[in-house]
Amino acid sequence: MVNVLSLQYKSTRSDETVTASQAILKGLASDGGLFVPTSIPKLQVSIDELARMSYKETAYAVMKEFLTDFTEEELKNCIDRAYDDKFDTEEIAPLVKAEGAYYLELFHGATIAFKDMALSILPHLLTTSAKKNDVKNEIVILTATSGDTGKAALAGFADVEGTKIIVFYPKGGVSPIQEKQMVTQKGDNTFVVGIKGNFDQAQSGVKAIFGNKELAEEMNKAGFQFSSANSINIGRLVPQVVYYVYAYAKLVQNGEINAGDKINVVVPTGNFGNILAAFYAKNMGLPIDKLICASNDNKVLYDFFTTGTYDKNREFILTTSPSMDILISSNLERLIYKIAGSDSKKNTELMTSLNTTGKYDITDEMKEQLADFYGNYASESETATTIKEIYDKTGYIIDTHTAVAATVFKKYKEETNDENKTVIASTASPFKFTRSVMNAIDSKYDAMEDFELVDELSRIGNVKVPNAIEEIRNADVLHDTVCEVDEMQDVVKKFLGI
Ligand SMILES: *Cc1c(COP(=O)(O)O)cnc(C)c1O
Repeated sequence: MVNVLSLQYKSTRSDETVTASQAILKGLASDGGLFVPTSIPKLQVSIDELARMSYKETAYAVMKEFLTDFTEEELKNCIDRAYDDKFDTEEIAPLVKAEGAYYLELFHGATIAFKDMALSILPHLLTTSAKKNDVKNEIVILTATSGDTGKAALAGFADVEGTKIIVFYPKGGVSPIQEKQMVTQKGDNTFVVGIKGNFDQAQSGVKAIFGNKELAEEMNKAGFQFSSANSINIGRLVPQVVYYVYAYAKLVQNGEINAGDKINVVVPTGNFGNILAAFYAKNMGLPIDKLICASNDNKVLYDFFTTGTYDKNREFILTTSPSMDILISSNLERLIYKIAGSDSKKNTELMTSLNTTGKYDITDEMKEQLADFYGNYASESETATTIKEIYDKTGYIIDTHTAVAATVFKKYKEETNDENKTVIASTASPFKFTRSVMNAIDSKYDAMEDFELVDELSRIGNVKVPNAIEEIRNADVLHDTVCEVDEMQDVVKKFLGI
């Protein structure tokens, strides 16, 4: 049965309002805004019930509140197809206690990074949404990636009927293993392109293609339509709410906290999708106290939380946590809209200012509503030191992104003495960023080859080399297209044969 009290999704920039399945299909609203639920639904099950649930059951309990126009059968089908043995553990997202925090390992999926959590289900949400809305066109997924989204989207969509996927990544701006993962992607419906520019240019290029009405018409005539797998798609955001609920329930089940106790979460942040999902979980009624936003040297968000000014006019810094090398955190718009009193006009003004001047200021009234957020950042050397410290003390090896979060957690504790139990979102396997991780532990590893390092990491950390890495050891490069930023649209047309 479809929920009669169906939740609507509204653009952050106008009154455009759609159902959940339409929001998933469209990705972005026609006016360039992001779809947000008109209200954040409450959890309808108790913490004690959640504590007994599997990951899939938790996923259903959370997602059904957001995707109210999906039938129970449709949603359960999507969940079953997503969270299966593509994950190397039945728990899907295990919690590991180390150094005064709980690491929520979100990297047990096909591409060993947290984007698998959402991108393993998005293709199914999308094809289900297409059926529900009588869409006959083939869906073309267009994605810009700073490294992890690309591979996770490729893995999710490869050979999914009725879809094609095109991924743009900054050539030289992703790790060698990330690049190898993408350019070896199999599947006739996949296409991977390196651009001569950075991630923000790739993202702006994709946005421009999405916004091109003539192209959309041409595509429609040829039987195609675009959709987005980027974290702006509500179909990415909703599945991410699940693991915060799951983590909390596991802490209760394991006797680490009592139902109702507040916890903090620390999230290594780039596009602001993952931490926004934690914010949604809090708004659903999950007892989260502080949302700790961790940045690397590209600390736009830290500056924003401390000053109330968002300013992307600064040097773009390549760091060892490349998936967080971002100057425009797209999902922040959803928070801005909310703290602007769900005022699409006010939000549009700020986003226009961001577009034209590269910055905007929020009012004091808006800033007051950010009290639950804490922002800080970690420098490159702090990040490396944290990896080494945690390894030396506990033997547990974390990746560079997670280490940014662990560093910020340390700073937060020192500043506040807050004793809340804390969950740190562990967003990538150390095997995905082997060189940076191993160099942090000991500079002697610098001399080793990539795959030698993989074996050494496995040995010193006492963890099996993940399948995702084994697979690419000897895989053939299947994609070698490189283009200029202003050639992106032509490349898309060529791939689609239009
Ligand atoms: C994408 C990514 C992030 C940043 O997540 P956002 O939702 O963009 O804030 C952090 N760490 C890793 C490993 C990622 O792939």
